[in-house]
Amino acid sequence: MDKSIALVSGANKGIGREIARQLAAEGHTVYVGSRDAANGERAVAEIGGDARPLLLDVTDARSVAAAASHVAALDILVNNAGISGDGKPAGEEDLTEYRRIYETNVFGVVAVTDAFLPALRRSAHPRIVNVSSGTASLAASGGHATGSYLASRSRPASGAFAAYRSSKAALNALTVLYANALAADGFKVNVLAPGLRRTDLNAGAAANGGDPAEAAAGAVRLALLPDDGPTGQFVSWDGTPVPW
Ligand code: NAP
Repeated sequence: MDKSIALVSGANKGIGREIARQLAAEGHTVYVGSRDAANGERAVAEIGGDARPLLLDVTDARSVAAAASHVAALDILVNNAGISGDGKPAGEEDLTEYRRIYETNVFGVVAVTDAFLPALRRSAHPRIVNVSSGTASLAASGGHATGSYLASRSRPASGAFAAYRSSKAALNALTVLYANALAADGFKVNVLAPGLRRTDLNAGAAANGGDPAEAAAGAVRLALLPDDGPTGQFVSWDGTPVPW
């Protein structure tokens, strides 16, 4: 594809910053979404290339609208911003925590996607990448999945991180619905399982995660899909299909 204009939400650190860095390194213009202005400016300086700060809190309707008003044309939207919460299992988690996590991981994605759809519709190759989690796989959570993705990863059935994992399962569902709704307009809408990565997301990620850059490469691959590429797919960072 030609040089594109991209927006990555939650790009001031972690996997999002790596996605922005890799897109900028390939010569694309990248809006670095950050809900904190100073953190966004710092990330832009680190990323280099044609990276631009964009103040964006995905849970704040006014922030989303203001960000969208700054971006007239967009080719790539990466919905990366996310929170994992306290990890409690189903039956022990507070409803307020479910709501807090869904506001960011589900409703935030809907708000941002819808706000930027007019700009994406002006693109010849519109792409949306949602950053989900392999822990959202219902097949894996229920212990029913087979296939290469699960053969290479041990993921015992458990009720832990109920709010987070169910929010990402909702995000997976929305990915399919947006992919269907936008297919006739040339959009590719896919969802990524980035694998456990060394970031600030939670203690497990910080202690046991792999290189965020590896996950970012998977997102960049989906962001730059050719016109005959797939849509409505759930794929791992290495391109392996993930069972829903
Ligand atoms: P991270 O280092 O904690 O980064 C999360 C990013 O999201 C930060 O930039 C954070 O901004 C931003 N964010 C949170 N709430 C926001 C809001 N309301 N508005 C705008 N930005 C917001 O975690 P990460 O691991 O890179 O996570 C990136 C994505 O990967 C998430 O969707 C996560 O669920 C997913 N993921 C990560 C792993 C892993 O092992 N790391 C595994 C599976 C999936 P602040 O700095 O302002 O908080």
